[in-house]
Amino acid sequence: MNRTIIIMLLVGLAFGTCKKKEKEDNSSLLALAYVANSSGTCNGSAATTGVTVSNSTATLDASTGCVTGVTTCMDAALPSWIKDNFKCATGYVSGSNYVFKSQNVPNTKSSYYGTSSPLYEARTTTGPNPNTTSSQKLVYTIPSAPSKGTGTVSTQGGLVSIGITVNGLAIFNNAAAPPDTLAVEALTFDNYGGHPQNTGLYHHHAGASKITNNDANLVGIILDGYAIYGKKCDNATTTTTDDFTPSDLDSLHGHTTKTTHFTTATYHYHLTYDSTATIDTLMGSFFYGNKGSVSN
Ligand SMILES: [Zn+2]
Ligand SMILES: [Zn+2]
Repeated sequence: MNRTIIIMLLVGLAFGTCKKKEKEDNSSLLALAYVANSSGTCNGSAATTGVTVSNSTATLDASTGCVTGVTTCMDAALPSWIKDNFKCATGYVSGSNYVFKSQNVPNTKSSYYGTSSPLYEARTTTGPNPNTTSSQKLVYTIPSAPSKGTGTVSTQGGLVSIGITVNGLAIFNNAAAPPDTLAVEALTFDNYGGHPQNTGLYHHHAGASKITNNDANLVGIILDGYAIYGKKCDNATTTTTDDFTPSDLDSLHGHTTKTTHFTTATYHYHLTYDSTATIDTLMGSFFYGNKGSVSN
């Protein structure tokens, strides 16, 4: 590590206590994580979900941008749209699937780490949620060549999670625990738009502000193998000036077009207004493609 990178890290750490600044620092941490991860060999039996992260000692590892103790390795055989963007998880190719393993602890401060954690930050929402985040052992097996399904397979159905974000966190659908609607449950989201369910599994239903803020950023991959983006589509260019809010999304939050990651028109999802949830959500009620599997 050269002197410049060390100085960048120290500057990043100094700003780490300021929430607004932390989001800007994210880019330098992502760049470092890319250097650290992109050439790794992370496949096979050696890949694990790592140690159990303890909330009482959880801190951010500036070199990876992930919580200390979180395994972060993206195998070199993965396509660049995954290995250049995903971290805070292990990912590799296995046959006709991508496998992701995640401890699923947020690389942000959160009220749900509990008041005794170094990563505690009071939330601004006031809805009741008695749960705290806890370290998981999620394993996703996701088709590497996604295929169109019936569009009628529910995104609920007792699934542990329906996708994984670029920072290794679970994606949930547009539903809340009955009888609440998600609009009510949103009143329990932490300052980065996530919360844990009753076994401590932290997840995002809606805006994940660590990774997307009304932009075209890649959010993650869904269990059916299709990518999911923020509210905008990137017009298949890296410049943000031509990003646009798609007007042709289907009821599953998706459409088929090129992006910077897919040079031929490919189906993908977007964060968008969901009529069931009555707020913006990442996913709707059904999968577009044939889904893989997930365990914990
Ligand atoms: Zn939830
Ligand atoms: Zn799009």
